[in-house]
Amino acid sequence: LMSNRMVISSSVREAGNDPIFHIAELAKNRIAEIGSEPVINSTIGSLMDDDGNLVAFDSVYSTFRSLNNAEIAGYASIAGIPEFLENVVYACFKHHQPKGYIEAVATPGGTGAVRNAIANYSEFGDEILVQDWHWAPYGTIAQENRRKITTFELFDENGNFNFESYENKVLELLEKQKRVLSILNTPAHNPTGYNISDEEWKQLVEFYTKTANEHPDWRIIVLCDIAYIDFAGKGESARQFMEILSGMPENVLTLYAYSASKAMTMYGLRNGALLCVAPTQEIASEFKASCSFSNRGTWSNGTRSAQATLAKIISNDQLREAFEAEQADWRNKLQARAKAFMDSASQVGLKTCTYRDGFFISIPCENREAIRDYLAEHDNFFIVALKKGLRFAPCAVNEEKCSKAPALIKKAIDKL
Ligand code: PLP
Repeated sequence: LMSNRMVISSSVREAGNDPIFHIAELAKNRIAEIGSEPVINSTIGSLMDDDGNLVAFDSVYSTFRSLNNAEIAGYASIAGIPEFLENVVYACFKHHQPKGYIEAVATPGGTGAVRNAIANYSEFGDEILVQDWHWAPYGTIAQENRRKITTFELFDENGNFNFESYENKVLELLEKQKRVLSILNTPAHNPTGYNISDEEWKQLVEFYTKTANEHPDWRIIVLCDIAYIDFAGKGESARQFMEILSGMPENVLTLYAYSASKAMTMYGLRNGALLCVAPTQEIASEFKASCSFSNRGTWSNGTRSAQATLAKIISNDQLREAFEAEQADWRNKLQARAKAFMDSASQVGLKTCTYRDGFFISIPCENREAIRDYLAEHDNFFIVALKKGLRFAPCAVNEEKCSKAPALIKKAIDKL
């Protein structure tokens, strides 16, 4: 049969099959019908206040509004404006900057950072290693760039990091591809809320070091996707691992995908960076050249006003302190909401994935779509169904509703 298709065969895509968008629409419609009070809308991946309005940090938007027109209108440099590149290093590492040669390249959000890492550190057709529970766009970005993803099991039987699954998968890919790009979304993993602990990181560093020393021709690239890091831990404890992840052989490279989307409530301003902590100056310079070239060939340059806002805030003690205080307030609020959910979950016997921090909590279960639809219909409760379970969003639901949610989920699971 002749096809009338005009796109090339590898660009044939299904339209409108985004599972989150659809349920989010249903939630919006229900709220329009009956008001927000009786509705639990857990479909949103942004920080919302207790009444369901998007949180936008005052410290960020008062600075943004103080920019003059030219600072907003101008092009940014290809790699990012110099003030941004200086200050994003602090935004990424704060006081836990690892030893190594650090370079940064601005990208439109963490998505752009992930894209540049995939495009420059894997071959066409390669498999990129991600967690089995993972942010779905990794697969989209890989496919768009003519790569694929493959997964390892994130959890062992005790709900800790599954070294056996991870190490086997890394070695298998190295044998086959001679290089591996491993994306680890931590801390505050989307969608489970898992944090790789400092002890686990030490064990991973030993594994990378041993493997790299035994095979100097292999290349190991570890991309830490830290999109949610500013909502994890207490103070800067969530960044301690960064200093552990350093001092490895020259065929191991660590990259960081920094996103200002959540960290600065800048979702739509498209601001982020890919940073390297390289073992040599040469590898750092190569990173900078390749990623700058990628910028020029995809989106050209980033959002100047967003870069300027980050630079102004981080470089000014008073502004930075106000910003970090606002971040801390919301981190505390998020942690209180998540605790309310987890406490209720253990009271009613609802099993969740290991949750430590972050915007989402996951419930492993069968029948996910039936449960999702049942909750929407009977309880005005809108939750996202993923491949391996349900995703609840304390980032978007107030504490009172977080307490109520586990009993409703448990009831639906038992019924269906
Ligand atoms: N990584 C993960 C795991 C995410 O959940 C997100 C956003 O949802 C991102 C990266 C990057 O987002 P953005 O491109 O908006 O910065």
